Amino acid sequence: MRHLIIGASAAGITAAKTIRQWEPDDEITVVSADTQVHSRCMLHHFLSGHRTAEGINFVAEDFFEKNRIRWLKGERVDRVDTAANLVHLDCGAEVPYDRLLIASGANFFIPPLPNFREAKNVYGLRDLSDAQKISKAAEGSKRCVIVGSGLVGLDAANALCERGISCAIVEMADRICPLQLDAVAAKPYQELFSKAGCTFYLAEKAAGSEIDAQGNIVSISLESGTVLPCDFVVVAAGVRPAIGFLEGSGIKTGRAVEVDRYLRTNIENVWAAGDVAGITGIWPNAMEQGETAAKNMCGTEVPYENTYGMKNTMNFYGLTTLSLGINTPQEGDEVVVRESRDSYKRAILRNGVVTHVILQGDISNAGFWQELVKHQIPVGHLKKSVFDLSYADFYQYDPKHGLFEWNLPQE
Ligand SMILES: Cc1cc2nc3c(=O)[nH]c(=O)nc-3n(C[C@H](O)[C@H](O)[C@H](O)COP(=O)(O)OP(=O)(O)OC[C@H]3O[C@@H](n4cnc5c(N)ncnc54)[C@H](O)[C@@H]3O)c2cc1C
Repeated sequence: MRHLIIGASAAGITAAKTIRQWEPDDEITVVSADTQVHSRCMLHHFLSGHRTAEGINFVAEDFFEKNRIRWLKGERVDRVDTAANLVHLDCGAEVPYDRLLIASGANFFIPPLPNFREAKNVYGLRDLSDAQKISKAAEGSKRCVIVGSGLVGLDAANALCERGISCAIVEMADRICPLQLDAVAAKPYQELFSKAGCTFYLAEKAAGSEIDAQGNIVSISLESGTVLPCDFVVVAAGVRPAIGFLEGSGIKTGRAVEVDRYLRTNIENVWAAGDVAGITGIWPNAMEQGETAAKNMCGTEVPYENTYGMKNTMNFYGLTTLSLGINTPQEGDEVVVRESRDSYKRAILRNGVVTHVILQGDISNAGFWQELVKHQIPVGHLKKSVFDLSYADFYQYDPKHGLFEWNLPQE
């Protein structure tokens, strides 16, 4: 059997490893635009200068050789022909397959703001080559504008501040990291980043830019009229699943590749895993999906179980925060808060179910919260604050099936 995997990152590498374990004699080929395996989550360590490119590699040097995996590195897939079971590369080569995994992740998105898509000094941050470009731009620069204050924008700001660059951060929302944090949890981060050399422009939108004769943006103007001079721009305004090369393949896509619960696409011998499948955009989920898809490519029937749900951990300047679930409070929700000197906790309860939790400072009990959110365990009827609950409140708990039985008197 010939397995072909597009992508050499969290999903693709995990899939290749799993197939090798399950099918010692099958042929495995990985093709990736990346020329080096690396962790996207560690790009800021490269950008800050704390790690080399090799220092963010997450596989052993002999990984491909030892696992007998053919790796076509630095090769971009141009087109997939599902009728002929062939993948066409940019270089003109064709790679045949019996089973195909699409693990091509996502691409950063540059909004159609004046000059943003044409200028030479506007960068996204998705992979090592992006970090290398930003690193080069940072040499000899003093000021940068970062559009977007989500986790990627803050990663970039954190690294660039360490290199002595002043970062002006523009955010449409009224607080930083709005998908994960509320105003209370965002404030200490804003203070820490400000101390490190960042200036924040919240509830603001980039509206225009001035470009010089060399094609570099020299200032960004905001809707309020504020003008931010800069040497370069980093855009951290979201990502889009990398599905462009699937056009005309017959593989069904919407915003992402459409998959069933076995991560199979509408084409029988094609699966998708990781960010390209659009289920969640975090590393551990991409790995888990890569593993599940691989097992199914080996002929089993393993449904994908999302162990982590929507989970983001951040640690900047020694302050750790965990955000679990979807942070979209609605009318009628109950929002409960517990604060102490060193910690802040906030939970959103919708119809008695915890839909989002912020744990800042003290993230103990995180596994328990993860289970509550993921399995949508009803807690509203309990005569105890949600912050005082723990596994001890169950007499039966089956993590595999998310079965919780309460050990408490119920109304
Ligand atoms: C700066 C940054 C920080 C992050 N921090 C965290 C974090 O702290 N925690 C967390 O959980 N998640 C984090 N993430 C998200 C996490 O990195 C992604 O969820 C994860 O990388 C998804 O893995 P993937 O294998 O699906 O795709 P990707 O990592 O995007 O890899 C896609 C692979 O496909 C290849 N590829 C794409 N298109 C083609 C093509 N046409 N032809 C050939 N090859 C192709 C690429 O070269 C690459 O090898 C971060 C992301 C970024 C950018």
